[in-house]
Amino acid sequence: MVNAACSTTGVMWLSLTTTSIELPSEALLPWLVLAFLVVAFVLGSARLKGAFGEFRVKAATGLRLDGQEYRSLHNLTLPTRDGTTQIDHVIVSRFGVFVIETKRMKGWIFGDERSRKWTQSIFGNNYRFQNPLRQNYKHLKAVEELVDLGPRCFHSVVVFVGRCRFKTTMPPNVIKRRQLVRYIRSKTVVLLSDEQVLDAVRILKGSRLSKRASRRHLRNLRRNERDPICPRCGKTMVLRTARRGPHPGSQFWGCSGYPRCRATRDAG
Ligand SMILES: [Zn+2]
Repeated sequence: MVNAACSTTGVMWLSLTTTSIELPSEALLPWLVLAFLVVAFVLGSARLKGAFGEFRVKAATGLRLDGQEYRSLHNLTLPTRDGTTQIDHVIVSRFGVFVIETKRMKGWIFGDERSRKWTQSIFGNNYRFQNPLRQNYKHLKAVEELVDLGPRCFHSVVVFVGRCRFKTTMPPNVIKRRQLVRYIRSKTVVLLSDEQVLDAVRILKGSRLSKRASRRHLRNLRRNERDPICPRCGKTMVLRTARRGPHPGSQFWGCSGYPRCRATRDAG
C-alpha cells in the first residue's frame, strides 16, 4: 500500500516536473512572438520617432543655448478659439519668441513657402504632407494670442530631423536640426525686455493644458457652441429672430441681458 502510494506520488511528481518543464516554452512562445511584434511596432512607429526627434532638438538646444538667455518650453498644448493646438518647442528670449515645429522625415523633401502641400520622395514613392510652415503659423498665432506681443516678436522655425535632403530652395526658417542653434543665435535684434520675457514664459506655463484640461477645454467649447455665453458680459445668450435689418426672419444669438447688453452672435 505504502509502496503503491509512494509510486503514485512519484509518478505524479514526475508528471508534474515534466509538465512544469514543458509548459513554459510552449505557453511562452506566442507571448514571445507577441512581445517581439509589440517592440518592433513601437520602434517603427512614427510617434516614437517623432518623440525621439523632439528629444534630440530639446537636447541640442538645451545643451548649447544659455538657459538664462533662452528659456525653452517643450511639448505645449495650448487652448485656441476652436480647440487646442500642440506645439513641439517654444524658446523665449529677448531676441524674440521662437515657435519650433519638428518634422522627422527621410528622403527627399520638396517644398516652398506658398504651397499648401509639400512632397516627400522616398524609395521612388511620393507622399504629400501639409506645408509645415502653415501648420506652424497656427501654432504661432496661438502663442501670439496668449502672450500679447506684436507679430514681429515671433519667429516661426521648422526643423527637419532625420536623414533627408531638401531638393528645393527652402525659406531661411526651414532648417536641419544641426542648424537650429546657429539660426536662433543669428537673431540678435533685441525685441523684448527682460520683464516681457519672464511674463511670456509665465503666461505660457500657466496656459499649457494637461491631457485632462485639454479634454475639458474641448468639452466647454462644444457646450459653448450649443449654449453660447455672451462675450461681453458673460450672461447666457438666447436664440432670437431678426425682425428688421438686412435679413428679417433670420436667427441670431442675442445676450439675455438685452437691452442692457446688446451683444449678438451669428447663429450657425
Ligand atoms: Zn451680454
